[in-house]
Formats: sequence, C-alpha cells, structure tokens
Amino acid sequence: MRRLEFISTLIIFTTRSMAWRSSGTSNKELVENLRKNHVFASQRAYDAMLAVDRGDFTRNDPYQDAPQRIGYNATISAPHMHAAALDYLQNHLVAGANALDVGSGSGYLTVCMAKMVGSSGTVVGIEHMGELVELSKKNIEKHHKEMLDSGNVVLVEGDGRQGFAEKAPYNAIHVGAAAKGVPKALTDQLAEGGRMMIPVEGEDGNQEFMQIDKIDGKIEKKTVEHVIYVPLTSRDKQWSGHR
Ligand code: SAH
Repeated sequence: MRRLEFISTLIIFTTRSMAWRSSGTSNKELVENLRKNHVFASQRAYDAMLAVDRGDFTRNDPYQDAPQRIGYNATISAPHMHAAALDYLQNHLVAGANALDVGSGSGYLTVCMAKMVGSSGTVVGIEHMGELVELSKKNIEKHHKEMLDSGNVVLVEGDGRQGFAEKAPYNAIHVGAAAKGVPKALTDQLAEGGRMMIPVEGEDGNQEFMQIDKIDGKIEKKTVEHVIYVPLTSRDKQWSGHR
C-alpha cells in the first residue's frame, strides 16, 4: 500500500510539471485536459470536478488553469491545485465522510469535496471574510442549492486557524491558504486515520504542500509539492493586502 502510494506520488510529482497547461474553453475541456496531463489520477476527483462548473464560482476566465481574483484580496485557486488536493484526499473523501475546507472562499472546492462524500457526508467550509461566505452561498445556489438546504455543505464565518470544533473530528481537512505552521487546532480536529492537506510557509517564505496523516493517534507529515498560496492570516492583515 505504502509502496503503491510512493510510486503514484512519484508519477504525480513528475507529471505535475504539466500543471498550468490544462486550460480549456469549457469546464469539460478543462477537466479533460487536467486528466490528459495526469494532474490527477482519481476517477472520483475527476467526476467531482466534471460535475461542478467552475464558471459558477468566478466570472474571470474560469476555464483557464490559473488562480483568479475573487475580491477581498482572495483568489479561487488554480484548477490544477484543486485537482491535486482532491487527489491526495481521495481515500478520505469517501461516502459519508466528514470534511473541513479551511478558507473556503468561492465555495468551489467545498462543493467538489461534497460531491465526493455524497449526500450522507458533510463538508464544512470555514472562511473569515463574511462577504466571501455570502458570495460562496450565491455561487453554490446556482446549481447545487440542495447541498446547502440539506446540510451536506455547511458554510461558517470564522477563523479557520481554530478549525471548527463543533463538527469535529474530520476524516479530511483541506486548507486553501498558507499557514506559518500547522495550526494545532486542525491536527487536534483530525479524526483517527484522517488526512489533512495544507500549504505551509517556511522561514524563507517558500511554501510546501504538506500531507498530514493521523495514524494510531500519531501525526505523520510529509512534503508533497512546492506551491504558492495566499496567506492564512487575520482579517485585518488580509484587508490591508497581507502587509
Ligand atoms: N479554496 C478557495 C479559496 C482559496 S484563497 C477557493 O479556491 O475558492 C484562500 C482563502 O482563505 C481566502 O478566501 C481567504 O479569505 C481565506 N482565509 C485566509 N485566512 C483565513 C483564516 N484565518 N480563516 C479563514 N479563512 C481564511
């Protein structure tokens, strides 16, 4: 199992150089290109991204393989990073699972995660900009209103560095902004056997995408890629442009 995971990580590591090159003219073409370029291997992640039109979540060039500004000094992450995150979390985003999306922003990835856990699962999206929480609700209502009505997706306004204890523990946690370190509240709220994917910024300002597993109560960390995300920060710092 571990060996298989190692080999698939190696394949993904080398083929992710194709990231940024998967733009399309429609959601389908974008997702097909991500698959053609081996940005993801998971059929379920592919199905989720196919079922969620990125055009509902950003007006600006939604099918380009690049991040786009969504206001409030936030971005919707690039499709290849969404695909990668869903791929790393695929075995934890299973039917009936409980998941947390920190920095849910546009709401796009929260809905993709909800597609993967199905109607018997729950995904909590936590976002500290109230305006973005409202925007994400409007985005989701366009084609996935039933997720909000049923509680399959729950959106809360709050500081994601504290996680959301009310609905913990989580089988999968995705963090969509770069933290200075791994917040303890998030590892505490990870379920036994759960996995968190989080960009972490080092002293030198470089960011690593880290995979954090809780196995027999112990935390195992590994770096899987080098990435660039907006900071996981306070509302005040974000308002002033992260200075
Ligand atoms: N995953 C989302 C947004 C990515 S941008 C998407 O792809 O659409 C990162 C998001 O994290 C922004 O929306 C920003 O407002 C939010 N954020 C930054 N720091 C945060 C914090 N401390 N708590 C909650 N959200 C935060």
